[in-house]
Amino acid sequence: MTIRKSTSLLVSLIAVAGLALTGCGKSEAPAAAPAVSADGVRTITITANDAMQFSVKEIEATAGESLRITLSNIGRMPKQAMSHNWVLLTPMSDGELNSVGMKASAKAPTYLPDDKSVVIANTKMLGSGETDTIEITVPSTPGEYPFICTFPGHFTIMRGKLIVK
Ligand code: ZN
Repeated sequence: MTIRKSTSLLVSLIAVAGLALTGCGKSEAPAAAPAVSADGVRTITITANDAMQFSVKEIEATAGESLRITLSNIGRMPKQAMSHNWVLLTPMSDGELNSVGMKASAKAPTYLPDDKSVVIANTKMLGSGETDTIEITVPSTPGEYPFICTFPGHFTIMRGKLIVK
């Protein structure tokens, strides 16, 4: 339900940003995430913590849209024990997702599966206090694209989906 709220907030933010652009030719990013930057790219800010939780578990997007994904590890545990990344994958069954997650978890230090054809985008693996921002083009085919953290043992809990419409 919080997701629905943030979606409508986002729509308002886009409207406000649009007005600001027409009004004075300059848009200022709102203090609260999610935000639209001056170049019109929507930014999704995701935090990950020591409880192995992504703050955002569902992202709605339009096919072909540009998105900026910022992941911050706000946990305090040492990097070796608790790191996080955000890996966007092609649509697949839960069984396939578990298989990809397990294979990726074994691939230190990148933690990416050997089969790169299933990986659409990924951030770096982040230790405590680290942040990474990537820009992605949302796939052109509508559907549900899973994202996971591939640090060993995390993918069973740290997962969400990009819903492309
Ligand atoms: Zn993680």
